[in-house]
Amino acid sequence: MRWTLRTLIAAIVIATALLCVTVPMVTHAQRKGRVARCAANLHSLSSAQEAYEAFYGGGLDEVESGSGYWLALTRHQPPLLDASTGVLQCPVRHQADRATDYRGPARPWGGHYSDELVGADCPGNHGPGRGGNIVSVYGEVVAVGEDHRLWRRAEDETQP
Ligand SMILES: [Zn+2]
Repeated sequence: MRWTLRTLIAAIVIATALLCVTVPMVTHAQRKGRVARCAANLHSLSSAQEAYEAFYGGGLDEVESGSGYWLALTRHQPPLLDASTGVLQCPVRHQADRATDYRGPARPWGGHYSDELVGADCPGNHGPGRGGNIVSVYGEVVAVGEDHRLWRRAEDETQP
């Protein structure tokens, strides 16, 4: 009986220790997967923007700027984005009150908009103070922390 009680306690201690190690690892892996899906979304937005520019020979004159740009591409004929695929929602933390979780290119100033940045997560998508993903006109997606200069630039050069 005594040996059995010790065995039971040891088993509980080992199981608890294993849970303490594996739960954060699984949570971290799930978060990494969601950040990667978010990056794929932004890459799709960049491809749709490229298709739009090829269609019209560049420029944002035909559609809205900011987040409205992505929404306009879903209404474009033929549609350049399919919103039903969840491409407009950040998988890390979708904010239900928004039609899209992504900022779009800002309206051009002096005939051109951002020479590098075309889209970004809205602030808070990846948690308070954690930055988010940004995408360049070349289709490159980078995950940046909120204190990173690229994130601050994305906040300046893209609009909600
Ligand atoms: Zn995101």
